[in-house]
Amino acid sequence: MPRSAIRATTIRRSRSTPRRADPGRRRKPAIIADVLTSQWRTRARLHFPARRAGTIRGMRAPAPKEPAINTSPSPGDDVRTTTCYMCACRCGIKVWLADGKIRYLQGNPAHPVNQGVICAKGAAGIMQHYSPARLDKPLLRVGERGSGEFREIEWDEALQIATGWLAPIRERNPDELAFFTGRDQSQALTGWWAQQFGTINYAAHGGFCSVNMAAGGLYTLGGSFWEFGEPDWEHARYFMLWGVAEDHDSNPIKLGLGRLKARGAKIVAVNPVRTGYGAIADEWIGIRPGTDGLFAFALIHELLRMDRIDLDYLVRYANAHWLVIRNPGGADDGLFARDAEGNTLCWEQGGGPARADAIGIAPAVVGEFTLADGRTAVPVFQLIAERYLDPQYAPDAVSERCGIPADTIRRIARELAQAAFESNLTLPIAWTDAWGREHAEMIGRPVAMHAMRGISAHSNGFHTCRALHLLQMLLGAVDAPGSFRYQPPFPKSVAPPNRPGKTRKDNGALDAPPLGFVHSPDDLLVDAAGRPRRIDHAYSWAYPLSAHGMMHTVIRNAHAGDPYPIDTLLMFMANMSWNSAMNTRETMHWLTDRREDGEYRIPHIIYSDAYASEMVAYADLVLPDTTYLERHDCISLLDRPISDADGAADAIRHPVFDPATQRAGRDVRGFQSVLLDLGARLGLPGMVHADGSPLYRDYADYIVRHERAPGVGLLAGWRGEDGAQHGKGAPNPEQMQRYIDNGGFWREEIPAHARYFKMANRGYLEWAQRFGFVGSTEPIVLQLYSETLQKFRLAAQGHGAQQPPPEHRKRVATYFDPLPIWYEPFESAELEASHSPLAGDGASTASAFPLSAITQRPMFMYHAWGSQNAWLRQIAARNYLYLHPDTGARYGIADLDWVAVDSHHGSITVQAKFARNMQPDTVWSWNAIGKRKGAWRLARNAPESSQGFLLNHLISDKLPKSDYANADPVTGQAAWFDLRVAIRKADGIARSQPQFAALAFDEADETPLRYGASMRARAHGR
Ligand code: SF4
Repeated sequence: MPRSAIRATTIRRSRSTPRRADPGRRRKPAIIADVLTSQWRTRARLHFPARRAGTIRGMRAPAPKEPAINTSPSPGDDVRTTTCYMCACRCGIKVWLADGKIRYLQGNPAHPVNQGVICAKGAAGIMQHYSPARLDKPLLRVGERGSGEFREIEWDEALQIATGWLAPIRERNPDELAFFTGRDQSQALTGWWAQQFGTINYAAHGGFCSVNMAAGGLYTLGGSFWEFGEPDWEHARYFMLWGVAEDHDSNPIKLGLGRLKARGAKIVAVNPVRTGYGAIADEWIGIRPGTDGLFAFALIHELLRMDRIDLDYLVRYANAHWLVIRNPGGADDGLFARDAEGNTLCWEQGGGPARADAIGIAPAVVGEFTLADGRTAVPVFQLIAERYLDPQYAPDAVSERCGIPADTIRRIARELAQAAFESNLTLPIAWTDAWGREHAEMIGRPVAMHAMRGISAHSNGFHTCRALHLLQMLLGAVDAPGSFRYQPPFPKSVAPPNRPGKTRKDNGALDAPPLGFVHSPDDLLVDAAGRPRRIDHAYSWAYPLSAHGMMHTVIRNAHAGDPYPIDTLLMFMANMSWNSAMNTRETMHWLTDRREDGEYRIPHIIYSDAYASEMVAYADLVLPDTTYLERHDCISLLDRPISDADGAADAIRHPVFDPATQRAGRDVRGFQSVLLDLGARLGLPGMVHADGSPLYRDYADYIVRHERAPGVGLLAGWRGEDGAQHGKGAPNPEQMQRYIDNGGFWREEIPAHARYFKMANRGYLEWAQRFGFVGSTEPIVLQLYSETLQKFRLAAQGHGAQQPPPEHRKRVATYFDPLPIWYEPFESAELEASHSPLAGDGASTASAFPLSAITQRPMFMYHAWGSQNAWLRQIAARNYLYLHPDTGARYGIADLDWVAVDSHHGSITVQAKFARNMQPDTVWSWNAIGKRKGAWRLARNAPESSQGFLLNHLISDKLPKSDYANADPVTGQAAWFDLRVAIRKADGIARSQPQFAALAFDEADETPLRYGASMRARAHGR
């Protein structure tokens, strides 16, 4: 039967044989029938465009009068453009309103980040805004800390209380304030505020997120994956995605993967679990957790063995030819050879020592040379070849540990080389390098990589991140066409010049922001005896390069008074009593423990959040934040910008709603505005006029008027009094409106000749200098070999004025290797070295915990925020422990059995589910779905608390045997993914364990409590 006949028949049948055949069904109302009829007609016209619908054989002519059908009704009567905050990606959104309520969230097609794409999380922002878990009023604790008993207070009282706690601290010792923020996006303000307060105890959440990735890149390339770079989606032909990487840059990666697939580029996912982006990869490498560095070294070994590396690139843009002093035991061992002016040296072939930045010479990359002063030196590349050609890194040697067949490793190495060197990718774009040499074209190396937390959240993560960058550099695949590309304001010099603040000025402010980059032991925050000065022990000998601080150690140390007691813990958006904590049970204890005199060991806790998270119950004073649709925000180039490789960009949020209109009695304020208000009440420098009155009305006013340096503010667009300047310029009172008029963002294109080789492209460096991204147009040299790390090693070997205390020397000497190294993740290594009765005769404790356990962030949720969202909970309201069926068989576990999961630290009981998309020696689960009963205003029987769970309960914040944090020894990054577990069947249990006392309901009588009157009212009224 021809298609037209089928369609006509279908249409006829639909019109003529409806409801009489089923007398039990009600007739559709006439209006609906008319609509359906009309839709069919419309469809018929579409399918038969050459004929009018009424002329199709068998169809009746159209009725003389058809109802007007709006097939594309407007979703609302008003639309505002702003920036999504349902994850860290920061897409542009259009908020459609009808009668003052949100009807629809749409991706903004004009926005540079997402180009109209919106994900499930973003679209569910409606339910985030209307969440029953929203806090409504400032709360003052009236019961025991942790009970959740509060009374509502007015803002004036709240701010007076906070000022009353903070003012004496600032007078006495600003370091008694520990100010730690979670996943907020306003660190340009919060870091500055801490600096003005004068406390060194400030950090954002990067230390427990992915600081290894940031630091590994910034100390190597002057940039990083994170939000500092991206693959060349347009030209890459081979893309390696390492570890869990869904968390940042979400929609741009999805868009980019689509482009790669459309062009037939190969995508290789390296991950113990094949989820997320790995699901569409052409090849999945099911690697064992924590062995990515070893895999990278085996690839490097193969590339070196096959001589498939880009030596020209390495000499031109990296330090492959720089000479390194060889003087074992000497104070200069491992440092770069320098001339009298401090310029690094190389060895000119057939000549002698020459400046390493000289052009027109052919420097040696292998060999051993004697300098004029008699010292011996070798080029960096010689050291690389010596180390990675060692048989211990051969594919056959690492295959078993990594869980990857040696042939696969060899093949991937060949494929990388082929893609990099045989693609013949050149872009016909003339450019001039930083030394003034002109190039007619840009030579591509179309191998791109991306990695994030899956790589960095291990105790060997820093070096693994450096290993990936070494692999990229050997292929010439950093900011070449087709490879990883920097996003402005990166690249920065290696390491970035800003050191952490250490001393206070006369006005009490720190001399620099509390977070920065140490360049040598002299920059550490340690006392004369080498002990930590910071409450989190960041920038100490235990974790010297902890560039984002160590949020995961604050509560333990504050409780212990190590290195000193603090008075007030101020936290923002950090669920530190639950899914953001390791060692959850003890963390709750530390937050509530009292001294012998009855006072809490942490005397004051101020917490700001928009929602009734688990952490709220542990605060003395709760400052209710707005939802992301009710406040101003600034996504700043001084902080975490939204740039892409072809342009610099920043963005704002602005209130779509006045919070007061959202619910009767709702009285919340944006935390950033509250912080400025507090700063003014405290008289902090930079926040008050000479007469003591507030300098800034609120955060929006600060965003527009504050200058970090002359002409440099939080937003780069439309500066200058007339708004005609971009990058630098005087504050423009109309700037916020200009952003709003432009859809909430600003973007400036990089000139075409300046878009690649940014580290050594004169055009780019001049452009970047104009914007203040770099201090000079000097080339940024990629550091294959890190002299910074070697300086720490030398200190540990007894050289220099600043040396580590004896107990840290071996650790620093071992892990501050100037070339990337791989070592067993600490938890495995310490368990391996110890013996446990669980493991049986003489066996190591490691064999008692034979499986790795990791988490992945669900694509459809962003931490605890997403897992209380009414729409997203319909996708998943509980999590399982996923294991391979072979693993189940090994341990006598069937699909959906309840299992006990033990680690060296604790035990949980959870429900198992089989999945084949995983490495069989690994178990995993979704992150942060498990909730404490009663938190987030979820029902008492919510699956999140009765069946959902956290792996956090199994993760210790300390190493099994030593006294160090469960963290990377270089950066202090939390080693979430080092966890080792055992599993066994648990009979007779159908509820996840452990369970903690319910927060929002009294367990005895189920009386709704306690987060204040408005919470009570809502529990009954909604
Ligand atoms: S990727 Fe993140 S920022 Fe973008 S729409 Fe989704 S939730 Fe929003």
